[in-house]
Amino acid sequence: ATAALDVRDLVVEFDTDDGPLRALDHVSFSIARGEVLGVVGESGAGKSLTGMAVSRMIQPPGRIAGGEIWLAGKRIDQLPRGEMRRIRGKRIGMIFQDPMTSLNPLFTVGDQLAETMGVHLGMGRKAGRRRAVDLLDEVGVPSPSDRVDAYPHELSGGMRQRVVIALAMCAEPELIIADEPTTALDVAVQAQILDLLARICRDHGTSMMLVTHDMGVIADIADRVAVMYAGRMVEIGSCAEVTDAALHPYSRGLMGAIPTLEDRGQPLVQIPGTMPRLSAIPDGCSFHPRCDKAFARCRTDRPEPLAVGDRRVACHLYDDLAPEDAQ
Ligand code: SF4
Ligand code: MG
Repeated sequence: ATAALDVRDLVVEFDTDDGPLRALDHVSFSIARGEVLGVVGESGAGKSLTGMAVSRMIQPPGRIAGGEIWLAGKRIDQLPRGEMRRIRGKRIGMIFQDPMTSLNPLFTVGDQLAETMGVHLGMGRKAGRRRAVDLLDEVGVPSPSDRVDAYPHELSGGMRQRVVIALAMCAEPELIIADEPTTALDVAVQAQILDLLARICRDHGTSMMLVTHDMGVIADIADRVAVMYAGRMVEIGSCAEVTDAALHPYSRGLMGAIPTLEDRGQPLVQIPGTMPRLSAIPDGCSFHPRCDKAFARCRTDRPEPLAVGDRRVACHLYDDLAPEDAQ
């Protein structure tokens, strides 16, 4: 079956006075229909940028410098801006950390939903309003026939994010890109919003790319997990495999940072060191200055992603030339 999203060797660069800086370096992954892919990594790894590239929202001086992006069998990385605008919203729904990124403070939530359905589905005003009430009900907004006339500022943060989810899904997109959708919310509300997102994907067969720095979020709802570091995908595999038995040393460090129930409130295990700046990516494996498994070749050769079982891992520990017992 055709994947909902297929990204091949995606390269994103930022033009600077000193030449191009590579921010995404040959990123490849796919998302099956109805699947939730969690994309994790520390801030600056390129997670949000990957979502922006897929939805073609990268602005100059950034640009897609290579690779291919296929949405349900249609190549979209070279589509003209106008055609891409129609695809965004209709075939790709977006959810950001701050709901006000997606909401217009001057219009009621019903008007915004009806407007979006008018643009993308050609739905008339009255039908749009009726459908808006149903959608608000589906995303768990109480008293939807009253709230449909509310302005965003009259709603709580959690309710606003529910409205944004309704907006993202109202045109029945193939793919939802959710970038830190719960980070700004109270802990109790976070779990409800994650449950809602998982249910929407299940009920509508929508695929989701869920960008988060929070491993707990991933463990809750992702089917597969992609781990990013310094603009590369270093490990991708099923959620169970990656969270229980990560292969890449960086993923292992991240998974060690999932607080267990007993540990909540304790300081997280941190990976020593920090992610390199784009202008100073080390030679070889970009993780080698922080890696406790590094050996000679890690400092000179860049590891390419390799299949290890059902996973792909970019680490020299898993190629034939690794020292014995290195893992
Ligand atoms: Fe560590 Fe080497 Fe693997 Fe990089 S390639 S993660 S430095 S062992
Ligand atoms: Mg981000």
